[in-house]
Amino acid sequence: MVLRGGGCGNVASLPDLAYRTEAYQQHGESVSSSTAEKRLVDLKAEFPWLKDVSSVILQQTLRDQKSAFDNFFNPKLRARYPRFKRKGGRQSIRLTKAAFRYREGEITLAKSKVPLPIRWSRPLPCEPSSITISQDRAGRYFISCLCEFAPNALPITPRMVGIDLGLTDLFITSDGAKSGNSHHLKRYEAKLAYLQRRLAKKRKGSNNRNKLRRKVARLHVKIADSRRDAIHKATRTLINENQVLCIESLNITGMVKNRHLAKAISDAGWGEFVRQLEYKAAWAGRQVVKVNQWFPSSKLCHGCGHKVDKLPLSQRHWHCKGCGEPIDRDINAAKNIRTAGLAGLACGATGAGAAA
Ligand SMILES: [Zn+2]
Repeated sequence: MVLRGGGCGNVASLPDLAYRTEAYQQHGESVSSSTAEKRLVDLKAEFPWLKDVSSVILQQTLRDQKSAFDNFFNPKLRARYPRFKRKGGRQSIRLTKAAFRYREGEITLAKSKVPLPIRWSRPLPCEPSSITISQDRAGRYFISCLCEFAPNALPITPRMVGIDLGLTDLFITSDGAKSGNSHHLKRYEAKLAYLQRRLAKKRKGSNNRNKLRRKVARLHVKIADSRRDAIHKATRTLINENQVLCIESLNITGMVKNRHLAKAISDAGWGEFVRQLEYKAAWAGRQVVKVNQWFPSSKLCHGCGHKVDKLPLSQRHWHCKGCGEPIDRDINAAKNIRTAGLAGLACGATGAGAAA
């Protein structure tokens, strides 16, 4: 068997993943679910700390692991071989209802008498059906709860907007609004580079190295937080103000492979922007229409339809040869995306690939 890299598994699955791998490599056996569960009983005898948590969590881990292996053996999915979690990476456990108790806004884990000291970001709409407790790389703990609720649709508005995602500005709308881009990463980049240089010089396993590693992790977290926060505010405003939001479907994975753009694109957070826009639209009863990414939104003059053959990325403004009007690259693109999206909507097409 060829071992490939990948990420899945769980803290508690560590001994078991090794067991499965060994069974396969040495005896060519695949471990069945029932064997894995029997093995879990042995493990509990061997490692008493496994009994500190509810057995539900361990069984959930086994189920997660099984689906990871099922994915791996499914040739259609091309999934990677399940891999151990890094000790310093993000850790998480998922708990179903039997493993926790929810009462009057407090969550108590099974086998524990005291409720978790949670600082809630918002009240829960109902009793959660499952919760996930995670620890990020900076050592902070989070709890996310799965709740069912009926979202409140926003009152319908006649406004429809086209959105072009950019680098100088995170987004530009067909109304001519430019978001600006706070360049969080850029601002912290120098500091991050400095810390990482220092980190590289520290001896592995030393206390100073660990302290510095935490510091780097905290900076990463700070950057990610402020970026996400800015995107939340932007998508909230767009959803509140518009009924239909037309946007280019982006092949972000492909774009990030372009080394010159990769960092700027990851920094801008296009993927997160689209994700937030889509779920907020679904909650608010708004519609996100995706326009085919090969649609030449930048090269087409929105006024007269004249198309320029070549348009270097650096050229932000020009005069259209068809109608002579001055063109702002991004606003023009957003207007074209709006037109294409609405045309697609009129034909009944939605989602990716609409209105090319
Ligand atoms: Zn023109």
